[in-house]
Amino acid sequence: MSNTEALKAANFIETIIKQDLADGRIDKVVTRFPPEPNGYLHVGHAKSICLNFGLADSFGGECHLRFDDTNPSKEEQEYVDAIKEDVNWLGYQWSGEVRYASDYFEQFHLWALELINAGRAYVCELSAEQASEYRGWATKPGKDSPYRARPVEENLARFEQMRAGELDEGACVLRAKIDMASPNMNLRDPILYRIRKQTHHQTGDKWCIYPSYDFSHGQEDAIEGVTHSVCTLEFADHRPLYEWFLEALSVPSTPRQYEFGRLNINYTVTSKRKLKQLVDENKVTGWDDPRMPTISGMRRRGYSARALRNFCQSLAVAKTDGIVDMAQLEFFIRDELNKTAPRAMAVLKPLKVVITNYPEDKLEQLSVPAHPELDLGERVLPFTRELYIDQDDFKQEYSKKFKKKFSPGKRIRLRNAYVIEADDYLKNEQGEVVQVNARLIENTLGENPPDGVNPKGVVHWVSASHGKQATIRVYDRLFIDEAPARGDGDFMQHLNPESCTVLDNCWIEPGLAASAAETRYQFEREGYFVADRYDYSPDKPVFNMTIGLRDNWSN
Ligand code: ATP
Ligand code: MG
Repeated sequence: MSNTEALKAANFIETIIKQDLADGRIDKVVTRFPPEPNGYLHVGHAKSICLNFGLADSFGGECHLRFDDTNPSKEEQEYVDAIKEDVNWLGYQWSGEVRYASDYFEQFHLWALELINAGRAYVCELSAEQASEYRGWATKPGKDSPYRARPVEENLARFEQMRAGELDEGACVLRAKIDMASPNMNLRDPILYRIRKQTHHQTGDKWCIYPSYDFSHGQEDAIEGVTHSVCTLEFADHRPLYEWFLEALSVPSTPRQYEFGRLNINYTVTSKRKLKQLVDENKVTGWDDPRMPTISGMRRRGYSARALRNFCQSLAVAKTDGIVDMAQLEFFIRDELNKTAPRAMAVLKPLKVVITNYPEDKLEQLSVPAHPELDLGERVLPFTRELYIDQDDFKQEYSKKFKKKFSPGKRIRLRNAYVIEADDYLKNEQGEVVQVNARLIENTLGENPPDGVNPKGVVHWVSASHGKQATIRVYDRLFIDEAPARGDGDFMQHLNPESCTVLDNCWIEPGLAASAAETRYQFEREGYFVADRYDYSPDKPVFNMTIGLRDNWSN
């Protein structure tokens, strides 16, 4: 069974939707993706996006993008903009305009009044500590707040004072009157409104009271006619409250909430709070640092949107949380790049080779295919007397262990070009080899040497006189520990100190310099690389390593 089929078999939400359509409970599916703009989206959100937009696509329905912007203290316009861009980049377009919870603040306020008038909400003036004491805990029922029995008129007046900005932050909150003894803590008179004297990125200073997540989410869904409100498992205990509000208020439709397991991936963290900490403490260069598991980071790393969607579609939509192996994500990235990325040569750690029997002014333009299978056209490799190969491909002494490498008296095939034989080498004061002198074996372009002494290995190379210098950032996993956020320890302690190495004396085929930003290549024998989205220019090419050719982490 392919991964896509596995998804089909496992996706319980699809089964529910099919049934709802068949029963006539709904005639069109409406889903939504509801990010809070308090950070950039990460790979977990990608799963939620693919699921919500995917459901709408496969049933001919609609998916809304709606910002859950009820907490101005942590939210910013920068995040709103980045989230829109990421959703589009992933390949999805929301139906209609972008929506905001804050579009409905007026209506939420009316609904709060409706509850107060019905005797189902009250203004509570317990301090935060008192309120928590009154709440009890899972095995201990809470007790009623002394403000619970306030008359409707008094509640209305006090709530109006909250709204008018006459009271300080923390002075009081509006709470629903449900059940202080409920075994579900979420039903112990939850908070509906708080005072927050903060400027909001969408509504400015219009409001100084803000609704809670619980008092907004279901109502937002109802206003928008969302039929299936899909969220992660931690909201399962909130579902009774979600339904309580829909029941208690005069809402225009009745959405239903369904929960699925969050995506967690080993060797990384998927929590905006933790990702923000990495950014704030300068452990990475920003939210879109190529090592970050954010959508914008993965994009900058060179992951393609299609590969990311394929990965998300391979994941089970289950009713339990699980941890997915990073290798599974990397498999989809490699698979896609192997099929699509043009091949090229880049030398990361250059070692000069001088071909002593090749004239100084001679230049051959070797034309070779850009991809071994796809018809991506030809590329031209200038071949000259002085070349670079990688330092790791030369050994001062021949040994069986390194029999595929280049060493004095031994031959090597230059990829797509001639066979050469090393004569001797020069060292610097530190004893490092800085130059190899070699001879070209005639008639070896695409042929074995006429004397029958065949090279054991093939190496990549770039012309020293015609190649271009480039900067290449080699990335590795951001954390060395499989579960950096495990337990109470500080996840920052598990950062991989070698997650980024900047090599600024790399050499690339000259034809690559004209690449557009975000063009992806396989640098032969090295891995997959992408022209950096921001820092790339033909004069100063900068490539990011996307991923190696093979998985070096699994055993
Ligand atoms: P975080 O814990 O990283 O802050 P969040 O759940 O608070 O995430 P939201 O912006 O509220 O982030 O999430 C928007 C949507 O994405 C929600 O429906 C949420 O359930 C879903 N989502 C968030 N994280 C994941 C994840 N790891 N896997 C799957 N879906 C996720
Ligand atoms: Mg959240």
